[in-house]
Amino acid sequence: MKKSLVILTVLSAINFTSFAQTQMIAHRGAWKNTAAPQNSIASLNQAIAQKAWGSEFDVHLTKDDVLVVNHDDEFYGLDIATSTYDELLTKKHPNGESIPTAEAYLKEGLKQQATKLIYELKTNKLGTERTLKSAEMAVALVKKLKADKQVEYIAFSYDACLKLRALDKKAKVHYLNGDKSPQELKAVKIDGLDYHLSVYKKNPNWIEEAKNLKLKTNVWTVNKADDMQYFIDQHIDYITTDEPELLHSILKK
Ligand code: MG
Repeated sequence: MKKSLVILTVLSAINFTSFAQTQMIAHRGAWKNTAAPQNSIASLNQAIAQKAWGSEFDVHLTKDDVLVVNHDDEFYGLDIATSTYDELLTKKHPNGESIPTAEAYLKEGLKQQATKLIYELKTNKLGTERTLKSAEMAVALVKKLKADKQVEYIAFSYDACLKLRALDKKAKVHYLNGDKSPQELKAVKIDGLDYHLSVYKKNPNWIEEAKNLKLKTNVWTVNKADDMQYFIDQHIDYITTDEPELLHSILKK
């Protein structure tokens, strides 16, 4: 009896490892099918309401060293890297929100624990020095808010990923730019690949290779049902999407 229980436990553990379900990350919050502007606090709360595994957001550094959340380099016509935070406050999202600071955004996300906060560190157009400064400030902010367990970092800048790794050995850091193999990322202790869907289709062995190296795999930005199913069938760990409602309905099947 005891023996069969052990076997059953081992089998279910193997099963869990092999078939861990793909998880959903809402790209810039859940905005496309809601009234919320992308990267607004409202879009974060929509993603949380949809029980997304994670909600992704983009963080820039202003001229006067404030971390703010927005996708593009510009916020309604104002260039973020060369504007002060007060200058950015002269513009508003259509829902009346100002540009969120990364601090306000994280504090909102920390009101719950079910949805992870996927912090994209944006490359600063003024140069690597500003990008690395942004990395230092990100780690300091996450530590100040005790948000370590709920935040994972992603970045296109390889230098920023290495800086994040050096500043916080336990932080989860994933690389976005698609030009490093799983082996190369493993060698520098980056936790995972977070690549455009075309990169995985060009390198069909990378998901399996990453899994063998115990790296996480994430794909962006997957908005079509057939692409979602393709990556679910590949047992990718995370799918980042502008269509969380569609992905949710497919994952539920
Ligand atoms: Mg992003």
